[in-house]
Amino acid sequence: AGRVVVVGAGHAGGTFAALLCQAGFSGEVVVFGDELDPPYHRPPLSKEFLSGPLEKWLREPAFYAEQGVALRLGERVVQIDRAAATVTSENGRTWSYDHLVLATGAASRWLDVPGADLDGVGMLRSLVDARVLRDRVRAAGSVAVVGGGYIGLEVAAAVRGNGTPATVIEREDRILARVASAELSAILARFHSERGTAVMTDSVVRRFDGEAGRLRAVVVTGPDGDERHVPCDVAVVGVGAVPRDKLARSARLTCDNGIVVDDGARTDDPRILAIGDVTSRPVRGVTGRMRLESIPSAVEQARQAVATVLGGPAVEPEVPWFWSDQFDLKLKIAGVLRGTFATVVRGDPGAGRFALFHHREGVLVAVETANAPADFMAGRRLLTAGRPVDPGRLADQRIGLRDLVT
Ligand code: FAD
Repeated sequence: AGRVVVVGAGHAGGTFAALLCQAGFSGEVVVFGDELDPPYHRPPLSKEFLSGPLEKWLREPAFYAEQGVALRLGERVVQIDRAAATVTSENGRTWSYDHLVLATGAASRWLDVPGADLDGVGMLRSLVDARVLRDRVRAAGSVAVVGGGYIGLEVAAAVRGNGTPATVIEREDRILARVASAELSAILARFHSERGTAVMTDSVVRRFDGEAGRLRAVVVTGPDGDERHVPCDVAVVGVGAVPRDKLARSARLTCDNGIVVDDGARTDDPRILAIGDVTSRPVRGVTGRMRLESIPSAVEQARQAVATVLGGPAVEPEVPWFWSDQFDLKLKIAGVLRGTFATVVRGDPGAGRFALFHHREGVLVAVETANAPADFMAGRRLLTAGRPVDPGRLADQRIGLRDLVT
């Protein structure tokens, strides 16, 4: 069975180690993580960080020792020697491997503008970041969120839920421009505005202004080219994430916006696999490869890696999906939006309960739903089936979705 070394004790690495043990692997499993916390759930960090507990462990911390997994926390891997099949950690110790699994995740993209080092400006990726943000927001008079992506909008919703003024600053002409349909962006912009969040689009952050080292305002250029000051004492920068593929690149593994893998999580080195946010992977229903930053993708790839290491049957590819909670909206999204498509709306966006079905000539490409779990399930089934549906019948709310799934 040999030794499996995992680099990264996040969602993908932690899930992989747990599933490998559950599958009866009898060899040695060593997991390196450069954070001090055992593997935990990141989604609550942007959703319930003001109201709920932050520490939601992936498995009980005792689980790893019970399963014989050596969890080496606070220990970063700094080098891979592919010829010798070893990794070296920052304390200089070298470990040999039979299989190496890279699960190094992604890092928040930083805004390189003046004042970004002021006290009060921060990012949100880790439990440590969330602890800092929680304490800052609780003491804040007002909060600015830079970036209208899912994480930014979740943070803004939590801040408003706490009664604190919040402003979302987005560079593009709509929030969620990279990841959602224009329809969903418009619905959510209205939804957040109605709950008191100021949503600024076409607004580029130029600098952070402060006093005695402390943040006082975000300075942006608005759509008309005018400079505007958004007063705040806390700013959360949520402008996307970049793959942490430096280790892989130094080991000359093929990388292209992430470590390139196949649908068995294999890199171009037969002994090295990669999973999670750090990978550029094949995606069901999409030509080529892309990077997915989601829990379902990390879990799917952890299962693929277990199958590859143990020589088990290939994992059936899944239609990608994702969720987000904003106020009382439970959003669930499946499929990938690219190129042109037409949209059928079911339900009532104004009432916060709806499903947007996006199709290309009757073949569904994605579904975006809010507070409509049954529609989401039906949409996923239609996406998985990949057969055309009649848009007219889809738009007819008298016809149950179940009758469209054959
Ligand atoms: P990570 O969980 O980031 O883990 C990678 C780990 O590797 C990190 O701990 C890192 O420190 C460590 N590491 C990196 N390099 C080294 C090294 N050289 N040596 C040792 N350790 C190293 N997804 C959803 O599907 N739904 C959501 O609602 C959702 N909400 C989110 C909210 C927030 C605030 C964030 C940040 C993410 C959210 N995501 C959500 C995305 C989801 O959390 C990620 O897709 C998932 O964590 C990816 O798992 P991963 O293991 O690839 O990366």
